[in-house]
Amino acid sequence: MKQITHYINGQAYEGRSGRYTEGFNPATGAISSTISLASADDVGLAVAAAQAAFPAWSETPALKRARILFNFKALLDKHQDELAELITLEHGKVFSDAKGEVTRGIEVVEFACGIPHLLKGQYTDQIGGGIDNWSMRQSLGVVAGITPFNFPMMVPCWMFPVALACGNTFVLKPSERDPSVSIRLAELLKEAGLPDGVFNVVQGDKTAVDALIQHPDVQALSFVGSTPIAEYIYAEGTRRGKRVQALGGAKNHLVVMPDADLDQVTDALMGAAYGSAGERCMAISVAVAVGDIADKVVERLKPRVEALIVKDGMQPDAEMGPLVTAQHRSKVLGYIEDGIATGATLVADGRGLKVPGNEKGFFLGGTLFDHVTPKMNIYREEIFGPVLCVVRVPDFASAVELINAHEFGNGVACYTSDGGIARAFARQIKVGMVGINVPIPVPMAWHSFGGWKRSLFGDHHAYGEEGIRFYTRYKSVMQRWPDSIAKGAEFTMPVAK
Ligand code: NAD
Repeated sequence: MKQITHYINGQAYEGRSGRYTEGFNPATGAISSTISLASADDVGLAVAAAQAAFPAWSETPALKRARILFNFKALLDKHQDELAELITLEHGKVFSDAKGEVTRGIEVVEFACGIPHLLKGQYTDQIGGGIDNWSMRQSLGVVAGITPFNFPMMVPCWMFPVALACGNTFVLKPSERDPSVSIRLAELLKEAGLPDGVFNVVQGDKTAVDALIQHPDVQALSFVGSTPIAEYIYAEGTRRGKRVQALGGAKNHLVVMPDADLDQVTDALMGAAYGSAGERCMAISVAVAVGDIADKVVERLKPRVEALIVKDGMQPDAEMGPLVTAQHRSKVLGYIEDGIATGATLVADGRGLKVPGNEKGFFLGGTLFDHVTPKMNIYREEIFGPVLCVVRVPDFASAVELINAHEFGNGVACYTSDGGIARAFARQIKVGMVGINVPIPVPMAWHSFGGWKRSLFGDHHAYGEEGIRFYTRYKSVMQRWPDSIAKGAEFTMPVAK
């Protein structure tokens, strides 16, 4: 049985809590690991290691920090398949999708390698006679990241490469559902030349998270996960004066305009609704069919959903793997029952799916509902499974109104051939990440990721330049030298002379 431990001060550490949890392979349903769960004392050790490493790391020139990240990026490239396999075996997503996740993580490392340029301040010569003014961005100290199960590599990579590049030291608390990749990342960072203590991992649950929130030496918390926990961490962290960015849940709509290319729409909906078994914060879970296009969309989707190849994600032809846990599968099944009970039309039913040879895996087939209305739970709540709901609206304005009224505002897409509609959509929609004929508009590493409304709590989006701002403090410096200083005290507000 594999043992998954913490990683503190450059080495594996089992912890002293005596608390453990079991890890599963979702494709077989078998227990595959024992995972240490940190106590507050274990978290204290990780924070102490990060705090001790901070002075030297923050004083290391940005160029030298970047060189370590370049080494790390080369190691990630070399170990791509190994990292993707670790993801598939614990998360369940298909191997090719896991490789995509690894690539999107590496891209943030590539961005962070440009840190000498990104940390450049601004300088104004001669703001007054003999006075100059400049600005700089300085690191915060020990920062922590708390991440969800659905992207065990990509989401931590939204945080730590940028945080470390800026000169902070880091404690990662990954999801207890798929923690293996976090340890491998820590080992590869060490191999790349990162000094011990700069990057630490604590495995755990609410106990570990609360210990990070309460620790006085943790300066900032980045969280990605469900909205109730995001709200909790934002409230508790900011109450203690910490800087917090907390990204929460989602309900992402894809609008199908009557002039859209239906083949492209069908392909987009299949990939974005059922890829990763719908366990993506940017998954499309609602298709908003405008005008009389709905029947055609449903007609095309039904056979495609029923033909999805659902099996162990390590099989090369798998299109969709299992859900992450048996509990999560039960939760998604509950939503399907609820959709039927509240009057939605079940067009494709994934409940009976059996995967030969993997009878104990946490599989669920693709499911499609039509005639879903905004009052139904399956519309309002995040299901986070392979369930797509079709909502019918009469016109473009109703589609925009529907989406803007939803409590979440993470991602959205509009399929159309009309430039005017596309422009109006991008401008009017109250959602953080918009795709025009792009189903999953996850911004590239040098832009920034984040939703609006109850999909993000805090002032900064993740990675890109927003990430640099989140992980640094802004400082303004004014300077003059004795030869430019006139004699005599001035009692008026200083102004440029
Ligand atoms: P989750 O909220 O259950 O867990 C996220 C993290 O919080 C984990 O590390 C977990 O250990 C910890 N946690 C769980 N319960 C806690 C508690 N009571 N107190 C403190 N910490 C706790 O989320 P999940 O199920 O791992 O991930 C799925 C969710 O994440 C979905 O809602 C999805 O939309 C969201 N998500 C959002 C984004 C985004 O960018 N907005 C990205 C990925 C995932």
